[in-house]
Amino acid sequence: MTKINENYLKLKAGYLFPEIARRVKVFSEKNPSAKIIRLGIGDVTLPIVPSVVDAMVSAAKEMGTTQGFHGYGPEQGYSFLLKAIAENDYGKLGVNIQENEIFVSDGSKCDCGNIQEIFSHDAKIAVGDPVYPVYVDTNVMAGRTGDSGSDGRYENLIYMPSTRENGFHPDFPKEAPDLIYLCYPNNPTGTVATKETLKAWVEYAKKHKSIILFDSAYEAFISEKGIPRSIYEIEGAREVAIEFRSFSKTAGFTGLRCAYIVIPNELKGFTKDGKEVSVQSLWSRRHTTKFNGVSYVTQKAAEAVYSTRGKKEIAESIAYYMANAKAIREGLSKLGYDVFGGVNAPYIWLKTPKNMSSWDFFDHLLDKAQVVGTPGSGFGPSGEGYFRLSAFGKKEDVAEAIQRISALS
Ligand SMILES: *Cc1c(COP(=O)(O)O)cnc(C)c1O
Repeated sequence: MTKINENYLKLKAGYLFPEIARRVKVFSEKNPSAKIIRLGIGDVTLPIVPSVVDAMVSAAKEMGTTQGFHGYGPEQGYSFLLKAIAENDYGKLGVNIQENEIFVSDGSKCDCGNIQEIFSHDAKIAVGDPVYPVYVDTNVMAGRTGDSGSDGRYENLIYMPSTRENGFHPDFPKEAPDLIYLCYPNNPTGTVATKETLKAWVEYAKKHKSIILFDSAYEAFISEKGIPRSIYEIEGAREVAIEFRSFSKTAGFTGLRCAYIVIPNELKGFTKDGKEVSVQSLWSRRHTTKFNGVSYVTQKAAEAVYSTRGKKEIAESIAYYMANAKAIREGLSKLGYDVFGGVNAPYIWLKTPKNMSSWDFFDHLLDKAQVVGTPGSGFGPSGEGYFRLSAFGKKEDVAEAIQRISALS
C-alpha cells in the first residue's frame, strides 16, 4: 500500500478560476449572443516584442550549427544573462549584485514555491492576506500548516491582513515568523511599498533573525519616482532578503518561461545548534541538483530584453497596459467606486459597492455588464468584499467595460 503525502488533502480545491469559468459558462449558455469582456486574467496579452523574437530566431539558427550548438548550460544561467541582469536591474539602481548571487530559472512561480524546501520543517511562515496563493499552498504541501478552518485560514500560518483600513500595509505579526513573504507591487491589491515601509521590514527581519522573501514580479510597472524597485535599495537588506524577479509580466514571457532569484552572499540561516549557514550555498545545491538550466534560446531572448531596442519596445507594451490601468482606475473612481492600485501595478483593487460580497459583485457585473473580474475573497479571507480587475486586456475592451459599468449606475 503506497501512502500519499496527506498534506495535499488539506489544500482547498483549486476553486477560484474553475468557479469563475463555471459561472461564465452558465451565463453564456443562457445568453449566447452576449459579448463577455474578461478583465479577470493575470496573463499578458500583447505579442512578444520584435527584438526578443529576433534574438530567439538567431539563437535557434545558432543551435543548428556545429559551432553554435549548446547542450546543457550552466544550471545557474549563462554568464551573458547574469551580467545583463546585474548591470541593468541592479547596477542602474546603484545596487551591487554579483553574478554568483543570481540564479536563472523557468519561472517565479516555481522559485517562490521551491524556496521553502531549504528551510526547516518547523519554520514559522507569514503571508499577506490577500495573497498570491503559491506561497500558502506550497507550505501546506510541505506540512508546515494544519487544516484550514471555517474562517478560510490554515492553522499554524501567520496571516497579515492588508485592507483599506491599514492602507494595504500589514502590521508586523505579534509572533515573529522565520519566513516573511512580501509582494510589491502587490498582486492582487496593486499597491506598492515606500522606502520607509521596506526599511521597517528589513529592520524587523534583522531584529528577529527572519528572512524576507520579496516577490518583485511587477517591478517594471512602477511609474512613480521614489518607489523602490528592489528590496536591495534598502540598507541592510542583503543580510535578510531573497528577491524574486520574472520576465513574465515585464516582457510578456508567460509562455516563454524565464525568471531569476537573487540570494546575496551575506544571507545566513541557522542550524538547530545555532551555527550559521549560507542560504545561497543551500539554494545552489538544490538548484543544480533539481534543475538543468533554462534553454539557450530563452536566455538569449531574455538578454534581448536589456538591449536598447528591447527596452524601448517593452516600455511601449507596459505603457499600453498602464493606460488601461489608468482608464479603469479613473473610470471607476468617477463612478464613485473606492479603487486602489493601478498606478504602479497592472491591477485595480476595488471595494465592492453596498458591502456586497466578492462573489455577489462578480455575479452582478457578469449579469448586468457582461464583465468578468476576479473575486477578492479568492485571494484570502481579508479579500472578502473586494474585487480585482486586470489591465492586461485590449484597450477597446477596457473602454467598453467602463462604459457598460457606467450604464449600471
Ligand atoms: C505572475 C506572477 C509571478 C510570475 O510567475 P512566473 O512563473 O514567472 O510566470 C510571480 N509572482 C506573482 C505574484 C505573480 O503574479
